[in-house]
Amino acid sequence: VPDTPLPDFVRHLRDILGEASVFTSADDLAPHLVEWRKIYRGHADLLVKPRNTAEVSAVMRMAHEAGILVTPQGGRTGLVGGTVPQGGIVLSLERLTSIRAIEPLSACVVAEAAVTLADLQAEAEKIGMLFPLSLASEGTCTIGGNLSTNAGGTAVLRYGNARDLCLGLEVVLADGTVLDGLHALRKDNSGYDLKQLFIGSEGTLGIITAAVLKLFARPRSVSTAFAGMATPAKAMDLFQSMRSQFGEALTTFELLPEFALDIVLRFQPSLRHPLGSNSRWYVLIEVSQSLGGDHLRSALEESLAAAIEHGAVEDATIAASDQQSAMLWRIREDLSDAQSIEGASIKHDVSVPLKHLATLIEKGSAACIAEMPGLRPCPFGHMGDGNLHFNLTQPVGMERQAFLDAWPRFNRIIHDLVIDMGGSIAAEHGVGLQKIHELARTKQPEALMLMRSLKAALDPKRILNPGKVLLGRS
Ligand SMILES: Cc1cc2nc3c(=O)[nH]c(=O)nc-3n(C[C@H](O)[C@H](O)[C@H](O)COP(=O)(O)OP(=O)(O)OC[C@H]3O[C@@H](n4cnc5c(N)ncnc54)[C@H](O)[C@@H]3O)c2cc1C
Repeated sequence: VPDTPLPDFVRHLRDILGEASVFTSADDLAPHLVEWRKIYRGHADLLVKPRNTAEVSAVMRMAHEAGILVTPQGGRTGLVGGTVPQGGIVLSLERLTSIRAIEPLSACVVAEAAVTLADLQAEAEKIGMLFPLSLASEGTCTIGGNLSTNAGGTAVLRYGNARDLCLGLEVVLADGTVLDGLHALRKDNSGYDLKQLFIGSEGTLGIITAAVLKLFARPRSVSTAFAGMATPAKAMDLFQSMRSQFGEALTTFELLPEFALDIVLRFQPSLRHPLGSNSRWYVLIEVSQSLGGDHLRSALEESLAAAIEHGAVEDATIAASDQQSAMLWRIREDLSDAQSIEGASIKHDVSVPLKHLATLIEKGSAACIAEMPGLRPCPFGHMGDGNLHFNLTQPVGMERQAFLDAWPRFNRIIHDLVIDMGGSIAAEHGVGLQKIHELARTKQPEALMLMRSLKAALDPKRILNPGKVLLGRS
C-alpha cells in the first residue's frame, strides 16, 4: 500500500517529468496491462515514459520513498508474462532509444534500453560489423528486454546468449541510485561482476537503462542446410560430428519434428518441402565464418554426404542462394504461427545436458501421450544448446480451453523429467509470472534463499516487478 496518496504522487511526478510523460487514462494504460498473447492481464494506476536515465532515477526514487510498485516494460514480446503489472506504475522504457556511441576499434556499441534488436543489428551493419543476437521478435524486442531476460535465439551456439554479448551496464536501482557500469573492458576483475546480477533478473533487481554490447566481424561466407533423419539420436550424432569438424563456425543447429514441417507447409503455401522425401525429424543447420570463399560450403557438402553414407542422415539439401536460405529459415521461423493456427499449445522452454536431450524427447512425448491420448507433441528448437521448446498441440477436435486447463499437469510431467536430468525449466524465456510456482517447486532451496537475499539487498521494499521470478510480493 503506498505511503503517499496516489493523486499527490502523480502531481509530484508530473512536476518533475512534465505532463507528457505521465499517463493515467484507461485508454493509455490498456495496451500496457496485457501481454501480446493475451494470456495474462494485469492492472496499474499510472504509466510513466521517462526520457532519459535521470528521469528513470527520479521515478524510482519517488516510487521507493512512497513504496509504490514498478513494472518495467521494453518491447513487450516476452513469453512468460514478465511485463504484466500487478498495480502501481508501469515504467515504459520506450523513449530511451539513442545509440550513444559505436566504436569499431573496441568492437562495441553503447545503446540505450529501448533500441530494438533489429535497429542495433542495422547500426552494426552500417560499420561493417555484426551484432549476432537473433530472435524472431527482433523488430520489436529491445536491448533492455533482451538483457533482462538473457535472451538466446538461433546463434547462441556460435556467439553465446545476451549475457555473453554484454560488456557493461547502466542500471537504475530500486531506490533511484544510478550504477554507471558502461565499461567497454574485455578484462575487469576489480571485484564482483555486478552487471551479471541484472542480466536475466527480469526487472526484479534494477532497471537497465543502457548497455555496452560486443560487436563481431561480419561473416563473409554463410551456408544453410536442411537435413532429415529417423530419430533425435541421429540428429545428435550429426551435431557431434559437425561440431568437431566446424568448431565455432557451426552457428545454428535447430531441430524440428515431422509434425512441425507438416503444419508449416500446410499454413504457408508459398513454402515447399525442401527434401525429396519425408523423415521423422529434421535439422536446420547454418555454418558461417568471416573468411570468404567456397571452402565452407564444400566442407558442408562433404560432411552431409558422409552422414548420408553412414546412415545418420536420410536426405539433405544445401541452399544455393540467399533466397533459398531464407526459405529454409522460414520453415523454422513460421512454426510459432503455424502452431497457433493448428490449435492450442501447452508450452515448455527447457534445457538439459546434450547427452539427455534425445531421451527427454522420447520419454517426454510418450508420457504426455499416455496422459492425454491424441495429443500431438511438437518438441523443437535450439538443439545445439540443449534447449527445446517442448510444445504440445491439442488433440484434434478437443475443446481448446479444456486442453489448456491441463497445462499444470503437463508442466509437472516435463519439468520433473528435466530436473531428473539435471536440466532447467526456464532455458531462455525466463520465469516471469508463468513459471513462478514451478521455480519454487523445482529450484534448489539454497539457491532460492540466496536469490531472496539478493532481492532483499537490492530492493528492500520489494517494489520492482512484483509477482515475477520469486514467490511473495516479488
Ligand atoms: C515471435 C517471438 C519469438 C521469440 N523468440 C525468442 C528466442 O528465440 N529466444 C528468446 O530468448 N526469446 C524469444 N522470444 C521472447 C522475447 O522476444 C525475449 O524474451 C526478449 O528478450 C524480450 O524483450 P522485450 O524488449 O520485448 O522485453 P519485455 O517483454 O518488454 O520484458 C521482458 C522482461 O524484462 C523486463 N524488462 C524489460 N525491459 C527492461 C529494462 N530496461 N530493465 C529491466 N527490466 C526490463 C520486463 O519487466 C520483463 O520481465 C520470442 C518472442 C516472440 C514474440
